[in-house]
Parts: sequence; C-alpha cells; structure tokens
Amino acid sequence: MACGEAHTRTAVQRMLEALNPDFVGHAAPDLPDGDAQIEDLDFAAFDVPGCTRCGGVLKPDAVFFGASVPRKLVQDAARSLEAADAILVLGSSLMVYSGYRFCEWAAKSGSRSRR
Ligand SMILES: [Zn+2]
Repeated sequence: MACGEAHTRTAVQRMLEALNPDFVGHAAPDLPDGDAQIEDLDFAAFDVPGCTRCGGVLKPDAVFFGASVPRKLVQDAARSLEAADAILVLGSSLMVYSGYRFCEWAAKSGSRSRR
C-alpha cells in the first residue's frame, strides 16, 4: 500500500507458505461468503508477509467497498464501453454506483443491456 510495488498472487502464496509452514496443506470447505474456516489451528501464530520492497502492508489489487476506483481504470472502462456493442454484468446487484454508472454509460451510448 505504501510504495506501489506489485506482487503476484503466486509470490504472495510462497511468502505465506514460507512464513507459516504449519498451515500448508490444510483444506477448508468453502463457505457461502467466499470465506473459509479451519478449526483447530492457532491463528495467533499466523505471520502475514509484508511488501518485499518496503516491508509495508500488502493489499489485493482490488477496489474495496467505500474506496475510489482509480481514474485511469475508469477512463479505460469508459473507452471500452464506447467501443462495445453490449455490456454483460455478472455477479453484481449493481447497488453500488461505482459499478452501476458503467451500465448507465453503456445505456446512454446505445449499448444493449438486459438485467
Ligand atoms: Zn512496498
């Protein structure tokens, strides 16, 4: 989060496994919210890796609820919408404006949409 360095998911997995060898190999059933629950492990002993460049906190390259979508990403999406014949939205209720606005833009530009 501090320096902007990007780490691949594979690299982060390797760091997690190196720091937490006792957690490697455990499987957990998937839960409806995408979470997983593993019983009988002491998570107080779990080490979270930091950035390999600055030691800072790592964050997935995703926009979390309440955060702003980066301007370049919005501009890229707008250009893609202008060039698209249609837009298909999967897995979203579109209740958050940051996603809904893309549908509005597509509708205004004449793209076909169906909900
Ligand atoms: Zn960093």
